Amino acid sequence: MSIALNLDHASNAARPTTPRRSSLVGLSKPQLREAMAGIGLDEREAKMRASQLWNWIYVNGVTDFERMSNIQKGFRQTLSDNFLLDRPEIVSEQISIDGTRKWLFRYRDPKNPNLPPVEIETVYIPESDRGTLCVSSQVGCTLTCSFCHTGTQTLVRNLTAGEILGQILMARERLGDFPGGVRPDDGGLVPGPRGSGGSEGDSRAITNVVMMGMGEPLYNYDNVKQALLIASDEAGISLSKRRITLSTSGVVPFIEPAGREIGTMLAISLHAVRDDLRDMLVPINKKYPLNDLLEACRTYPGLSNARRITFEYVMLKDINDSDADARELVRLLSGIPAKINLIPFNPWPGTNYDCSSSARIERFADIVNNAGYASPVRTPRGRDIFAACGQLKSETERLTKRDRDALTSA
Ligand code: SAH
Ligand code: SF4
Repeated sequence: MSIALNLDHASNAARPTTPRRSSLVGLSKPQLREAMAGIGLDEREAKMRASQLWNWIYVNGVTDFERMSNIQKGFRQTLSDNFLLDRPEIVSEQISIDGTRKWLFRYRDPKNPNLPPVEIETVYIPESDRGTLCVSSQVGCTLTCSFCHTGTQTLVRNLTAGEILGQILMARERLGDFPGGVRPDDGGLVPGPRGSGGSEGDSRAITNVVMMGMGEPLYNYDNVKQALLIASDEAGISLSKRRITLSTSGVVPFIEPAGREIGTMLAISLHAVRDDLRDMLVPINKKYPLNDLLEACRTYPGLSNARRITFEYVMLKDINDSDADARELVRLLSGIPAKINLIPFNPWPGTNYDCSSSARIERFADIVNNAGYASPVRTPRGRDIFAACGQLKSETERLTKRDRDALTSA
């Protein structure tokens, strides 16, 4: 059971963009200063305006220059004549029986607003002690992991840094995380005190961000890096880098730079302990096999027992779930500060895989636990709204097709 709100044409929907106005959301601080210099401000003033804007955009969640009360009216007008503070349009917001929320967001192409818009999904998972936002990095994915529904969809394009951040900003707004915001009436499912949006620390609804939505973040490295550096900036959204996790299927050449330049937590979608099987499940393995991948993990900058790599392992019945697989997993990871996250396979229409039985998953987890690894089994969340790992975008596609059928038969 789920609740679905159709928020099309909501007041916060992205206004049609005009090509001459560019968005300030997603610019780095130097880029923001350059944008101010570009409208004629001298260096000192550009710096001051850039830091005011940063605060309004990321701390206060403002989308309208008119609300920037410490900026004179005339200059507010200059800003709105030249720039946008756009957010994605919310096409739909679904709320699962377990409190998970899934948004379908729509973006226009920033360079050419006349191109058809693209749609992506973002998921919010509330738990008693945290609230995790699962963010997309691409529209679809160029990789073709055989158990992942996103992998059956062709990539339309990379998301820009502003579009990646737009997911966080929009979710914060919907969850009442900005000052003056009001928590949704959710029967206590969203963490944090009711009606106290904008407060700091763990009382915020969104305490953690995982780059585990649609797409391979390391194939959109520059934009993901910029977005995550902005999200973790202490003068802005201020999420600790320890509460941000970047998940990769194993794009080895970008693992070291990600650790050095972004410095967030790392998750590796391992899923198999032999190259022949991993070639099939995660085909990027043909390019960057297990040896290379694990070597990149061993040398991941900042790795320590306090900052472990999470290895994700999807439990596929009779494919990768034997006792021998569990033992080999333990052997492969020896020497790497690691956590192992066992993910029950989430089915999607047309898949040939089944999820391992609970008894099998328990037995697998026991072997891994007995070897000294924490290996929580990830509880699937939001299955009723098709929001679980690897299911994103599918329902949207079905809806689109249904809508199209309805249109053609009308
Ligand atoms: N592209 C990145 C991040 C997005 S996928 C990556 O592959 O790491 C987030 C996690 O969900 C990955 O570990 C992915 O392998 C896993 N996943 C994909 N499809 C799944 C499915 N149907 N059931 C369970 N987990 C799945
Ligand atoms: Fe892409 Fe990750 Fe899905 Fe593989 S698991 S197809 S890398 S989104």
